[in-house]
Amino acid sequence: MRTSTIGKSVQKRPIRITASPQNPKSRTILILGGFHGDEPKSVHLCERFIELIETDPALQSRANWIIAPRINPDGYQIRNRRNANKVDLNRNFPTKNWTLGNPRSRMFGGHKPKSEPETKAIIQLIERSNPAVIVTIHSISNNRFCNNYDGPAKRIATRMSLANNYPVTESIGYPTPGSFGNWTGVERRIPTITLELPSQSSHKECWQKNKDALISLALR
Ligand SMILES: [Zn+2]
Repeated sequence: MRTSTIGKSVQKRPIRITASPQNPKSRTILILGGFHGDEPKSVHLCERFIELIETDPALQSRANWIIAPRINPDGYQIRNRRNANKVDLNRNFPTKNWTLGNPRSRMFGGHKPKSEPETKAIIQLIERSNPAVIVTIHSISNNRFCNNYDGPAKRIATRMSLANNYPVTESIGYPTPGSFGNWTGVERRIPTITLELPSQSSHKECWQKNKDALISLALR
């Protein structure tokens, strides 16, 4: 496994990925955590999965794994949802439905799409690595945990649900203009899962529930 930097945040913190040796014959699976800095369970799950892959050569060779545990390092530093410009990165993608929102809202998508260095780094990573599957990890309150999917990913979400027992959902229940899943899944047709962890569960529970769900991504 090799760790490298794909860009810098507003406050110049590195945005890092850890990748398995890339085999041109294998599919690339991209896993993102820490989109929202106040969802540390997503970061922890990514880090545990990196540790697992590092110690399991068979699993490592089943895909080109690319894992970015902290997409929003400035927000993570102070456990804030948004980045240092007070932009919700998960509303800052250049989708057809991007809309200018209220700058005071915690879901403010920026003054224009793709305005943030973190968004640009993610877009470049996806264009360069051409993933076959993307999982973006978040956490959510009030028992709304789910394997949410965008684009042609229902089968993958269903397989994850066999392992984690979370419901499979296509819509999160509220509009998400400029969201990452809209950009990758709906518009680019890259199978994309938004894994919403239960925010009331412990790190350990989230890992135990989702370890096999993440492993299942390597299945065809
Ligand atoms: Zn989130």
